[in-house]
Amino acid sequence: MPVLTSVPIAALPVERFESLIGERDYRRLMERFARGRDLLDGHAMWQVNSTSRGGGVAEMLASLLGYARGAGVDERWEVIEGNEPFFAVTKRIHNNLHGAVGDGLPLDDEAREAYESVTRAAGAELANRVVPGDVVLLHDPQTAGMIPAIKQVGVPVVWRCHVGIDTAGEITRRAWAFLRGYVQQADAYVFSRRQYVWNELEPDKTVLIAPSIDAYSAKNQELSDGQVTGILAAAGLQQDGATRTGDASFARMDASPGRVERRAEVDEGRPLRPDDVVVLQVSRWDRLKDPLGVIDGFVRHVLPRCDAHLVYAGPSVEAIADDPEGREVLAEAKACFAALPAKAREHVHLVTLPMIDLEENAAIVNALQRRADVIVQKSTAEGFGLTVAEAMWKARPVVASRIGGIQDQIEDGRSGRLVDAQDLAAYGDAVLDLLANPELAATMGKQARQRVQNGFLGTRSMLQYIALYERLVTGKGSPAEVSDPSGYA
Ligand code: UDP
Repeated sequence: MPVLTSVPIAALPVERFESLIGERDYRRLMERFARGRDLLDGHAMWQVNSTSRGGGVAEMLASLLGYARGAGVDERWEVIEGNEPFFAVTKRIHNNLHGAVGDGLPLDDEAREAYESVTRAAGAELANRVVPGDVVLLHDPQTAGMIPAIKQVGVPVVWRCHVGIDTAGEITRRAWAFLRGYVQQADAYVFSRRQYVWNELEPDKTVLIAPSIDAYSAKNQELSDGQVTGILAAAGLQQDGATRTGDASFARMDASPGRVERRAEVDEGRPLRPDDVVVLQVSRWDRLKDPLGVIDGFVRHVLPRCDAHLVYAGPSVEAIADDPEGREVLAEAKACFAALPAKAREHVHLVTLPMIDLEENAAIVNALQRRADVIVQKSTAEGFGLTVAEAMWKARPVVASRIGGIQDQIEDGRSGRLVDAQDLAAYGDAVLDLLANPELAATMGKQARQRVQNGFLGTRSMLQYIALYERLVTGKGSPAEVSDPSGYA
């Protein structure tokens, strides 16, 4: 049984970035791509992660690899197909890296065997396919165990960690200890922020690359008001007054036309209406995103003082193999909704979005984010929080927890609001404040968009990955130069 599955990568047109970043920066990006391509000399760049659908890593890979292909790089994307014991262990590691106990079980010899039985086979399978001159980028804990097998082929291996915690405690250190032996064999490790770097890793191999969003994806592209209304009506998320007259169209990544046709599943007291005020959180069904806290805080601290509606949207849980907790957490959220008083149920909308066509799913998220008056990301742990950058790019005012990579994105009081992750009253107050002050909300939204333009678009990540690749192959340049895109550019 093969342990790796290839994900098709559609080449995307890099030319579209010229109008986004300006002629000078675009020229620089093209020069870097040309240099990287020369160095790669027809060899492949392999990327491995644990899912092609759902979550931030898959979201970023689809874009970044698509553009690199569009620029002439032979990118490959493989997904590691684990079994249940494997994903139970990797979810435990993921939770532990975020400082959470998860299922509470130990990372002992039994866990290591469940983990290595998959990563050893995946490593051997990939090692058979790469040739000297190729480069391998492995993402997150699920793939770290592949490093020893691939190193034997003699190709550069990068391990990219998308999760982390600002201050590591006992639980987090335990997960580091489990993974460290593999990770130390990599030629470079990439973290999203300085605070996430593990101790006992070599500084000279450590680089920082913050995640980024694709301004042209179905998730982030501009939508007209008519498209927002049409998409929400087609997905069954808002009454459209008339009968399906709205424009439910969007542009697919490859610029071909798409249309939202599938309906979301919604638990709600009544459907959303076009003039309702909307507070939104979009997240996978994960306890670290705190769905119960988002609902509880809204019902206790926002609803008594205004007439707003909360929409909490996540993906259909059927689709996501690498997250064994999704089903359970969705069931908890549904039970929480069902237990709300009837009046509160009229103001809460629990949404699961269709995941059959990922671009359709993305277009619905896009329309929801554009429809929202305030966007919330009340996670209790967050590696980066792409949903925050997505909301900011749409010039939405965001209320988010003061944790992890969210702090790199939002400057409190300027490009959004940061609140204590455990303080439901503070979350409620910040939401109410923005709802009551539309001018303040609009100004923050504008500043938020500018912040993403300056620091969190995919073009910045691409420059950094090319710089890292050059460093691996030529030995020139320092980790600091890769980590600081302004210095590099
Ligand atoms: N997302 C989505 N559909 C959903 C729920 C989430 O496309 O139904 C996306 C969301 O828009 C974002 C990503 O999944 O792009 C989540 O990334 P983030 O970094 O916020 O969190 P992660 O899931 O990686 O912990």
